[in-house]
Amino acid sequence: MADATPTHEDVVTMDKIVALCKRRGFIFPSSEIYGGVGSTYDYGHYGVLLKNNVKGEWWRAMLQERDDIVAIDSAILQHPKVWEASGHLAGFTDPLVDCRTCKQRFRADHLAELQCGRKPSRHPGETDECDLTQARDFNLMFETTIGPVKESGATAYLRPETAQGIFINFKNVLQFSRKRPPFGIAQVGKSFRNEITPGNFIFRTREFEQMEMEYFVPPAEAPKWFEHWLAERERWYVDLGIRPGHLRLRAHEPEELSHYSSRTSDVEYLFPIGWQELEGIANRGDFDLSQHAEHSGEKLEYFDQGSGERYVPHVIEPAAGADRATLAFLVDAYDEETVEREGAGAGETRTVLRLHPRLAPVKAAVLPLVNKDRQPELAREVHDALRATVQSEYDDGGAIGRRYRRQDEIGTPFCLTIDHQSLQDGTLTLRDRDSLAQERQPIEGIAEEIERRVLAPWRTPKLSERP
Ligand code: ATP
Repeated sequence: MADATPTHEDVVTMDKIVALCKRRGFIFPSSEIYGGVGSTYDYGHYGVLLKNNVKGEWWRAMLQERDDIVAIDSAILQHPKVWEASGHLAGFTDPLVDCRTCKQRFRADHLAELQCGRKPSRHPGETDECDLTQARDFNLMFETTIGPVKESGATAYLRPETAQGIFINFKNVLQFSRKRPPFGIAQVGKSFRNEITPGNFIFRTREFEQMEMEYFVPPAEAPKWFEHWLAERERWYVDLGIRPGHLRLRAHEPEELSHYSSRTSDVEYLFPIGWQELEGIANRGDFDLSQHAEHSGEKLEYFDQGSGERYVPHVIEPAAGADRATLAFLVDAYDEETVEREGAGAGETRTVLRLHPRLAPVKAAVLPLVNKDRQPELAREVHDALRATVQSEYDDGGAIGRRYRRQDEIGTPFCLTIDHQSLQDGTLTLRDRDSLAQERQPIEGIAEEIERRVLAPWRTPKLSERP
C-alpha cells in the first residue's frame, strides 16, 4: 500500500464517468425512451466488452491459474426453502424510514449520506419540515410467482446472492469433481435486491452481477485460508492496474458482522463518493452447509477416507460485484491531459481511459491514414489477422487525430496506422495510448506482437505522474 493517503482531488467526479459512458456507448440509463426506470442501466457495446473482460479475468484467476476451484452456474429461481435455510427470508432486511412530508423512503442507517427530498443540500431528518417515521425492517428480496396462478405456495424469490446456489450443489460437486477440501466452487451471475436507496450510477443497483467463490476447508484451516484470500483478492485488483493507494482492506467491527460470519474484511476502493466496499471476504464457518443439511435432510459433509474423519467444511467466501468492479476500473483509468501533438490544437485536452490492456474493450484499432491508394485494403488485411486472437476495430472515418481521440476515450491501448510507407516496406505505425510514442513495426507478425503486449505486466502511468 502507498504511504500517501489519496484525496478526493485525485479522483474523477462521477458526472465525468457517467458522461463518458453515455458518450462512448459503455452504459446507458435503462428504458430511456420511456423516461427511465430508477437506477437501472443497460450496457452498450464497449460496456459489454469491458465487463466481460472483468469477469474473464476473475474466471482466469479462479480457474485457469489454479487447480483447486471448479465452476458452477446455478438457477436464479431456486426452491423457496433455500432462502428460509439461508436466513434471507427472516433476516435479509435493511432498516427503512419514510418521510411523511416529502413522501420519500430512506435507509435509516445511511441518513448521513442521503439527500433530503425537499432540500437536497441537507440530510433527511435535518430540517424542521422533515417528518420521519420509526425505522422498520424491509426485506430486500424480489418476490415472484412460479406458474400461471398466483396461489399460496407458488411464491419464489429472485436470488439476492449467487452463493446459495453453490451451497445447495455442494454434494453434486463433491461427487463429480474429485476434489477434497480445501477446494472452491465459483460462480458469476445476476443477483437482485430491492435496494431502498440505489444510486451512484452502477455502484448500487437493484439488478447486478456478482462474482462469488465459496472455498471449503477443514475447520482448523479456516483462519489461514481467510488470510490467503484477503491477500489474493487485493492483489487481483492491483495486478489489473488499480492504484494501490486507492485500495484498502477494512475489517468489519464485531457489530457489523453478518449473522453467519465470524470475520469479514472488505476490499474498499476510493470511489468519487469516498471509500466504499468493492468486495467482501468472509469466514462463514459451517453456517450454510449446516443450515441446508438441517432444512433439506441431506448430509452435507466431507468424509476423509484416509483418516476416517467426517466433518462439515468451513467456508471462506470472496464475494465481488462485476458492475462495481467495472466502475472502479473506469474511475481508476479515467484521465485528462493536455496534448499538443497529433494535429490537436495547442493546449487541447485529451480524455483517456488508462485501462490495463487485458481489460480494455478493444485491444487494437487499425486505421488507414487516407481512404485511397490501397491503404484501406491493407488495413483490413491487418484487422483480419488481428481479430483471430484479439478484439480489433477497423476505423477509416474522419481525421486521424479525431480517430486517435476516440480510441483514447474507449481505452484502446494500441493504434495501428497504415500509411503510404506501409505499402512500400510492409511496416505500420504502432501508437501507444499512454505514452503517445509511435514506432514502426513490421506488419508481418503484428498480431503476435499485440497479443504479447496485451498479456505483458502493466503498471498505470498515473502512478508515476501523481504518486
Ligand atoms: P453493501 O454493504 O454495499 O450493500 P453488501 O455487503 O450487502 O454490500 P455483499 O452481500 O457482500 O454486499 O455482496 C458482495 C458484493 O456484491 C459487494 O461487495 C458488491 O460489490 C456487490 N453488490 C452488492 N449489492 C450490490 C448492489 N445493490 N449493486 C451493485 N453491486 C452490489
